[in-house]
Amino acid sequence: MAAVTIMSDKVVVCGGGGFIGGHLVADLRRQGKSVRAADVKPLSEWYQRFDDVENLQLDLDLRESCEEAVDGMAEIYNLAADMGGMGFIENNKALCMITVLINTHLLLAVKERKIDRYFYASSACVYNAEKQTSPDVVALREEDAYPALAEDGYGWEKLFSERMCRHFREDFGVPTRVARYHNVYGPFGTFEGGREKAPAAICRKVIQAKLSGSHEIEIWGDGHQTRSFMYIDDCVKGTQMIMHSDILEPINLGSSELVTINQLVDIVEQIAGVKLKRNYNLSAPKGVNGRNSDNTMIKRLLNWEPSIRLRDGLEKTYRWIYDQMSQRVPHAA
Ligand code: NAD
Repeated sequence: MAAVTIMSDKVVVCGGGGFIGGHLVADLRRQGKSVRAADVKPLSEWYQRFDDVENLQLDLDLRESCEEAVDGMAEIYNLAADMGGMGFIENNKALCMITVLINTHLLLAVKERKIDRYFYASSACVYNAEKQTSPDVVALREEDAYPALAEDGYGWEKLFSERMCRHFREDFGVPTRVARYHNVYGPFGTFEGGREKAPAAICRKVIQAKLSGSHEIEIWGDGHQTRSFMYIDDCVKGTQMIMHSDILEPINLGSSELVTINQLVDIVEQIAGVKLKRNYNLSAPKGVNGRNSDNTMIKRLLNWEPSIRLRDGLEKTYRWIYDQMSQRVPHAA
């Protein structure tokens, strides 16, 4: 079992206006921590915002903004990235790679300061694509990132930034921790506009079909691709456990409940109480054929793994997206 360290109460969440960052801020605040949140978006666009949190609009691509974000803070969570679902990352590789500036400038900013911990949010997109060619997956173990053949653009940036964390730890003594998130979903996240991921996109499409009465849905790929999806509460809990542990190398943080995209649609249809005609768009971005998280390491080191059932998490996600959408449509409810 990994050792757990108790640290100072001053915490900054970079990317605090985003989906995971917003939930982490909410949780840290509930614990009574002194929280600062930093994000490039105007405050009005943050998914969650709290008056008792120090909210800063900062472009963390810039070194001076990173200095301002970490100043006086003991724990730094780096969740800031220019990212989205497959539709975004396949078509915006350069934008994804420019995010390297955020991690680089944050690490440079903390290098000269005394901090307790630095957390970096990596991704399952670092894993070698050749290990993800079949829907019949063997779950990905941490060592499967090498030899490297990461997701082009986004995955390479994540892999590079992971290594930057490692070398800042080894060469400069910065106490870095890294988790590789596997598909995170939940309320207060992106569900439209092109950056959304599969669970939110499927919820939105099912709701649209239900509200419009069209009873048809478009699915990207043939629906046989497999994935696992981690509910946000597990993500927030696991992130803090990894942050406070002595786990030095990147570790999977994901659910191991594997489903096909068709099964994901089945569950959302059950929640919505509808059955829709499925139109498969085979030329849409669909990512790797199969991906799952091998949780052997996290179970061994933390005696814990994400365990919220997909059906339970989707129920909450669906209700939240439904509320957002139905408020816009007269007489929808
Ligand atoms: P998100 O897009 O909701 O949040 C990221 C936030 O970073 C956004 O609010 C964005 O405005 C902010 N940001 C982007 N560029 C910035 C800049 N230059 N300066 C300051 N802020 C900037 O995404 P998320 O789902 O909350 O993801 C959080 C982290 O977790 C990211 O690093 C992401 O790559 C990683 N991750 C997420 C998932 C997932 O399924 N959501 C999976 C793997 C990894």
